[in-house]
Amino acid sequence: MDDLTVRFWGTRGSIPTPGRETEKFGGNTTCIEVRYGDALIVFDAGSGIREMGLSWMQEFSGESIDANLLFTHVHWDHIQGFPFFGCAYQPQTSLTIYGAERPGGGMQQLLSGQMSGDWFPVPLSAMQAKMDFRTVTDEFKIGPVTIKPFQLPHPGGALGYRVEAGDSVFVLATDCELDQVATNRDELKTDNFKPRQYDKELLKFFRGAQLLVIDCQYTDELYKNCVGWGHNSVATVVDICAQVHRV
Ligand SMILES: [Zn+2]
Repeated sequence: MDDLTVRFWGTRGSIPTPGRETEKFGGNTTCIEVRYGDALIVFDAGSGIREMGLSWMQEFSGESIDANLLFTHVHWDHIQGFPFFGCAYQPQTSLTIYGAERPGGGMQQLLSGQMSGDWFPVPLSAMQAKMDFRTVTDEFKIGPVTIKPFQLPHPGGALGYRVEAGDSVFVLATDCELDQVATNRDELKTDNFKPRQYDKELLKFFRGAQLLVIDCQYTDELYKNCVGWGHNSVATVVDICAQVHRV
């Protein structure tokens, strides 16, 4: 039986944060690599994807690379590393790129936007990798891996992903403010220390995960001043985890 492995190449939000204070977890923005057998799956192309690409070029050293790049959303910290992803400039690379349609277009338009005009000297069309762009709507398969996308409340929208492979379940829910969809959200407006209640359909995406990667940017104290900014408090995440066993 293959193992599902998860490797973090970028863990930060908003902007890369180099320096001594971030050396433990690294200063790069979001990029997470998941492998299962031959399946190569990458979530988001924050600045961490640059180092991942350098590592892959050593590992595969000229051999073909067949990878899947899944975007949660296209806020800049989740796409800014893509122009620096070395493997995308190599003709022996094949990339299947998944994401949601946004008002600005599909993933091809959204990724080429940051590489066009005054913003970047090299256009997306200069990347020699074979790219297949797909709009995520429903559950899909990558080899033996099942990917279940779900909507997350975040400014402009974001996707969470439940990854099922063999007996392993990994759930990624970066960038979300789940209080916005709590069934008792009106009650929370007057008392944000009340336990949050969630719809069963949402809880099902979290059920049985051995590893959950989820936004928990704020303490409850800080969150009071940041409602509507699109990120969870720690207590929200605790409430979600306490409830998943009930569905
Ligand atoms: Zn975001």
